[in-house]
Amino acid sequence: MLIVTAGITNCGSTFVSSLSFARSEAKLSFDFIFDSLKKHVFYDPHPVPRVVVSDQAAGIKASIPTGLPNSILQFCDWYVVKNVEKRLLDKGYPKELRKELKSLLWTFVKSKTHTLLEGNRTELHLKLRPDEIRYLQEYWGPKETQFIRVYTCKYPNLGAHSNQRSESLHPGTTDILNKQLSLEAASRRLGKTVQARLRELSVQEAQSAGKLPRTLDRRAFVLLADTISIYAINKISTEWEIIKDEINRASHQSKAACSSCELLIRYGLPCKHYLASPCQDGAPIPRSMIHPRWCLNGEPIQITRWAPLYHTYTLPMSPPRPPQATQNPYLSPRRNEITTLGLQVLEAREGLTGYARTRYDTAATNAQQGLVEYAQELQGDDLHTRMPDIVKKSGWNRQFKSHDKIKKRLMTGAEAAEHDANHREQATAREARL
Ligand SMILES: [Zn+2]
Repeated sequence: MLIVTAGITNCGSTFVSSLSFARSEAKLSFDFIFDSLKKHVFYDPHPVPRVVVSDQAAGIKASIPTGLPNSILQFCDWYVVKNVEKRLLDKGYPKELRKELKSLLWTFVKSKTHTLLEGNRTELHLKLRPDEIRYLQEYWGPKETQFIRVYTCKYPNLGAHSNQRSESLHPGTTDILNKQLSLEAASRRLGKTVQARLRELSVQEAQSAGKLPRTLDRRAFVLLADTISIYAINKISTEWEIIKDEINRASHQSKAACSSCELLIRYGLPCKHYLASPCQDGAPIPRSMIHPRWCLNGEPIQITRWAPLYHTYTLPMSPPRPPQATQNPYLSPRRNEITTLGLQVLEAREGLTGYARTRYDTAATNAQQGLVEYAQELQGDDLHTRMPDIVKKSGWNRQFKSHDKIKKRLMTGAEAAEHDANHREQATAREARL
């Protein structure tokens, strides 16, 4: 069998981190993978992964405590639900009830707060027989911190809940293999596929450089553009809109060293509590607020303890101005309304695919283009420099061609009559030919 492990790039894409042929899913097979990774990738001073997301294979569950003792083992939530479903099937729960229980199980797994978790647990237990309640409590109870959202959204797991990422690699890897191939030939084929995928990923990373979403506060992101991936910038910009809004409405509660926000813990990106400082100062977001894993063409990570740091920067492009004359660009509610809407325009796009997405893209581009043109028009009006368009007088007078120059004189009556006569003659000649 082929055991696949995967990781997440700075652009949010999946990459193959290891491929290993094994005789079984026993502990030994995973020990080998972790030992190899530690020898070739995560050797000192490069830290090992902080979270590993796995299915319910016994081998990996046994291997993590010895192979990667300081990493958190998180369980793929999809596999947990599948396992419980299997048990319900085996115990003869009727189809309709199983369907209902499946949805209750998902609500339970996705509980985002402890209050919700307890409520969802009670609701689930009401539909179960005592045997299965005991099974949930005894078998899954001690593992709850490894798959329930209220816990897993506090792990540095880059937003992962399932091992769908490594599963998604299966079509690409198993299609090219068959049982007749020697190990060497199979490895060669896999190597080619992995290399092709790596090339795709570097193209994707390169595309992330040099462009910034138009709707962003350029000033705030000027130090990040071209430095970190657009994927990371998009994540920060959502939080940035929130903090601007809170500061504008004076509803922001400052928190000196936040350690609870998802964006900070799961992704290593600054949450609103950290973004408040540059926002209040009218300064750009410094790079020291971003975990180096998001850097474009970055170095291998060597730091283990990371926290966002705020340094004030003065932009070289802005000339020094007396403080009272400086208007903080982020504290304009109308402007923020525009940037928030702009972000929503982009987010709405994410939910669409195929033809719907193409249609949406065209509509969004036209709408934005229209706005830019409108701004140019208004600018013209503002300055009173634009000459009014020549008003075309209505009348029976005709132009030589339907698309002729506006300044060209119109046809005289005689010319028009001759023109019409020629046309009639040509038409008759055409008909005669037919
Ligand atoms: Zn926070």
